[in-house]
Amino acid sequence: MQCHSVSTFEEWRSVARPLLLKGIKPTAVVWNDRTHRGSNAQLALSNLNSDTEISNDESEKLPVGSVRIPNALMQVLETIAHFRDSARWDLMYRLTYRAALENDRLLEDEADSDVSKALLMERAVRRDCHKMHAFVRFREVAGIGCEKFYFAWFVPEHLVLRRASSFFMKRFTNMSWTIATPDGAAVWDQVKLRFIDTINAASQPLADSQEALWRTYYRSICNVARINPAAMSKEMPQRYWRHLPEAAEIGSIVREGRSNFDARHSDAGTQAFSAAKAVQRALARLPGESTGPHACRRCDLWRHATQVVLGEGPADARIMLVGEQPGDEEDLRGVPFVGPAGFVLNSAIAAAGLNRKNLFITNAVKHFKWKPRGKRRIHSKPGIAEISACNVWLAEEIAAIRPEVIVALGVSALRALSGHADKIQSSRLVELRHSGGTRVLATYHPSAILRAEGDLGVAMRRDLIADLVTAKELVIGLRRVT
Ligand code: URA
Repeated sequence: MQCHSVSTFEEWRSVARPLLLKGIKPTAVVWNDRTHRGSNAQLALSNLNSDTEISNDESEKLPVGSVRIPNALMQVLETIAHFRDSARWDLMYRLTYRAALENDRLLEDEADSDVSKALLMERAVRRDCHKMHAFVRFREVAGIGCEKFYFAWFVPEHLVLRRASSFFMKRFTNMSWTIATPDGAAVWDQVKLRFIDTINAASQPLADSQEALWRTYYRSICNVARINPAAMSKEMPQRYWRHLPEAAEIGSIVREGRSNFDARHSDAGTQAFSAAKAVQRALARLPGESTGPHACRRCDLWRHATQVVLGEGPADARIMLVGEQPGDEEDLRGVPFVGPAGFVLNSAIAAAGLNRKNLFITNAVKHFKWKPRGKRRIHSKPGIAEISACNVWLAEEIAAIRPEVIVALGVSALRALSGHADKIQSSRLVELRHSGGTRVLATYHPSAILRAEGDLGVAMRRDLIADLVTAKELVIGLRRVT
């Protein structure tokens, strides 16, 4: 067994190349991540020279010795090297080894669990870079003499400082600036871009003279009548607001926008949050729950969630998929299964020959339950009380859609739909029904597939696809609904 410590893509590549040339198997290598110190973002980049200059040296063109690695794969690897997870180096070597020695078209196989994980990670890093480009705000600080100097503090989710900084170098070439993050800082002096070790968050400057002006301007250009909180949360997630001067205005602008909206729509009794209007109307008519799910206080989860997330899909859907509860992205966007689990689910739906547009997709619990870890909101499993409290809304969705088959994704959904709480592995083999009589198929939750390692994940994904195929065959009559 060999052990290697790495912290950057370049380091990893220089270690991986000779290993690959010698045909060393991924299982014989342990990768020690020097960038990852614990789970939060307070990392000390001890591996970085405290004063390293960016290299313009492009990633080396392959073939590497006698082994060919497709360029597309190298680009994915270069990107996921910035993903904040110490397991990435291992995944990168496994992908390289498999592409070099087993299948040079590996990257095209999105059903492969290593490939699908890598593509998810790639997407997350790209998104994080994009967010950094959009949400870094420079503040003017006193420089030497009369020279102006700008400073920004930003907390990226992944290790994207180096990757994202060249954008600022091109955009703000004629300014001297520093972007500080918990992972280190990028410093541009109008000639060179340098990276330095950790910088103290407390040293960030307070508001500058431009800020009041910028906030007034933001208020004046922001059209209150047309504000869309869901789209706004999607484009500008709340975790970035702390460092945006205009964020101080957002709360009151949204409140004004929402009360205007409610005033205009209260007669019709429609709600702003649902995608499926038919279901919404049915939910709003529920006896004794006239205020509708957006005002639900049947349990405490509403207190910390951004919004209620109802099901999405056509009112005449024949298959309904039920997950556990919205995750972080779903909570912000108000739509189920649009985060990493949604990515896995979408690919399984497609592999089963189904079209997501024809399915009704919802959750057993309609509010995101989470606990804070640093600046992140971590999923927390809903309890029986929360599942039961929310059952009224799930029952209404089922009554409105009247699906022929319901697929329970994971144990929480299964419990909500049938009261059955055994492991999915055994429940898959049992014939189950919702209290209204609809057939319920139990299968794995996409997040469980994401968490599963190696062959187990592959097998679980295969079962999920098979169960979706069963649902399809039941509704098209290839199998009998008993
Ligand atoms: N997990 C779920 O169960 N539902 C979602 O909508 C997203 C993740």
